[in-house]
Amino acid sequence: MATMITEDCINCGACEPECPNTAIYQGGVEWEFNGTQQPAIDDDIFYIVPDKCTECVGFFDQEACAAVCPVDCCLPNPDIVETEAALLTRAKELHPEQTFGDDFPSRFKGESGEPAPAAAPATNGAATPAAAPAPAATPAPVAAPAPAAAPAPVADVVSLSIPSVDEWEVPINCPRCDGEYSAPFRHFRIGVVFYCTHCGGSLVVNSSMFKDVATALDSFHAQWAGDFEAFQAKRQRELEEFEERKRVDLENFSATLKQEVAKAKPAGRTHRRLSLFGFQRVG
Ligand code: SF4
Ligand code: SF4
Repeated sequence: MATMITEDCINCGACEPECPNTAIYQGGVEWEFNGTQQPAIDDDIFYIVPDKCTECVGFFDQEACAAVCPVDCCLPNPDIVETEAALLTRAKELHPEQTFGDDFPSRFKGESGEPAPAAAPATNGAATPAAAPAPAATPAPVAAPAPAAAPAPVADVVSLSIPSVDEWEVPINCPRCDGEYSAPFRHFRIGVVFYCTHCGGSLVVNSSMFKDVATALDSFHAQWAGDFEAFQAKRQRELEEFEERKRVDLENFSATLKQEVAKAKPAGRTHRRLSLFGFQRVG
């Protein structure tokens, strides 16, 4: 089925440059095919021209627009169902200059269990790689989690420490080249666009990505803090038990020592030196 954009579109524009077939247009903008202009299919939100969409067959192992959409509104169109062969034929018609080998990327291969290609070719020109995130034109409302402070270290026990949730470097896999880069979680917000430091491909944080990462970080931080608190409490108990045992040992030793001294006490009275001239009797 062709891909379509639903009314949930927030007009961020992230999908348009990702399409290998220039099948995506801004609302109200005429679409073009073989040099002729056609009326816009939608006046308000971005739209996809079904006759130009190949569901990315021939280029990527998933729909590139869906991969970057921050609000997950690029969906299969149930009214336009097409086979992989038909979509590949369209890709060849749209790109007569290009050769598609037997191992062409396709989302259908993932569905059938066949291995998907490791990397998809870039077709729309790689932008200058940039590590810094750029906010999308119209980001969705962000419900940022309350920043969690890093767990308090346990005195003289901890050589490990973890960053706060906001400072955590979120690993990102570029959907275009599979390259890895990262960004602090404080930037990892719905609608924010990241650019791959390897190929320049974009990735827009969608609501499910944000939710999954926020949940994972919050959960790990809670677990980490809980583990250290439990360890500290256990260690405190063990220390108190140890001290109690040593206190009993000390009392026993004091009693033993007293007995030893008593046994060694010489018979008769003892004398204490009083002065250079004599002794004063004591006892
Ligand atoms: S599925 Fe692929 S070909 Fe179709 S509109 Fe989206 S990016 Fe373009
Ligand atoms: S990425 Fe999604 S929200 Fe942004 S313009 Fe495209 S369809 Fe609309």
